[in-house]
Amino acid sequence: MSTDTARRDASELELAELEQYLASIDVPKFHARQIFQWIYRRGETNFEAMTDLGRELRSQLARELVVDTPALVKRERSEDGTAKLLLQLADGQYIESVFIPDTPSQTFCISTQVGCAMRCAFCLTGKMGIVRNLTAGEIAGQVRVLVRELQMQGQRFNIVLMGMGEPLHNYDATMKALRILGDEHGLAVAPRRITLSTVGVLPALERLATEPFMPNLAISLHSTTEDQRDLLVPINRKYGLKELLDACRRFPLKRRNRITFEYVLLKDVNDSPEDARRLVKLLHGIKAKVNLLPLNEAAGIPFERPADDRVNRFAQILAERGVTVSVRRSRGRDIRAACGQLITESSRQRTPGRQLATMME
Ligand code: SAH
Repeated sequence: MSTDTARRDASELELAELEQYLASIDVPKFHARQIFQWIYRRGETNFEAMTDLGRELRSQLARELVVDTPALVKRERSEDGTAKLLLQLADGQYIESVFIPDTPSQTFCISTQVGCAMRCAFCLTGKMGIVRNLTAGEIAGQVRVLVRELQMQGQRFNIVLMGMGEPLHNYDATMKALRILGDEHGLAVAPRRITLSTVGVLPALERLATEPFMPNLAISLHSTTEDQRDLLVPINRKYGLKELLDACRRFPLKRRNRITFEYVLLKDVNDSPEDARRLVKLLHGIKAKVNLLPLNEAAGIPFERPADDRVNRFAQILAERGVTVSVRRSRGRDIRAACGQLITESSRQRTPGRQLATMME
């Protein structure tokens, strides 16, 4: 981490921007590819150590550039192998990133904001409110730290944007981070290995539909009626269920690809057989699969997790009607790394996050 303002932060740059920058300081731009390889494939952030660059060039780059990287503050390991990293950003804010070992692939769950503005009624992160957006470098930097800490250089992994924050509420930085992570000279993460999960910020969803680098899409639906969704996912008051599903119908999907609909199951709220049947109807005509998330309970969350047989019945109704359905086994609950459980205290004094953490002690 650096507080150096004179030097340019290379972690914020896409390859083309790094090329431009090098050209502007009279360094041949082809070196950008080498630098990208060092930073992303080999995890090297010290320019002096980039040994295939000439010695003078290395010193010049070290004078001109830094590679800001979130600092690892704490690493927790769950009984099930899930790892949660607490990271500190240059301005002292904290975020969390999670590694899930076998889903069946290895998956990184990363954050896009400090806190979240969406305030979904069952989500702990939402209780923090929004503190700030992450930059593209901070979003992509989480992946660099995860690869380094889990020693996964050269290995395949998936990325889900399901940590703290609403990715479509921080659109530009999120998409730029995906381009950085996807660059063939860096980590080269294919878009089909990335899933962007959203409550459905409609204008941003329409923009996403036009992106050349297109991740998989997951929609946090959680309800089958406008009135109930208004309460559970407050942004529904602005961008309603019907409009959201219409946008999903129009969303361009590659062959054999489908939109995932996430549905958190809340006991006696949205978990009845009628809810399941309504969900089937709503999804009619959409290439969809459903991921059921039995609530991860937490202090301060005024809902309960339904019993397993209730969850199974809900899943069965979908399956019988031809909807592909899975139930998300929650991972890392013992270290509060599961969905909707990411919350950090700010280093600054009385942010909403700190107030809540204090309340919960
Ligand atoms: N903001 C994005 C991504 C973050 S959360 C979104 O809402 O899609 C990833 C998933 O976890 C979302 O579907 C979210 O609704 C769900 N979730 C939030 N709190 C949860 C909880 N307590 N139990 C289970 N799932 C939860």
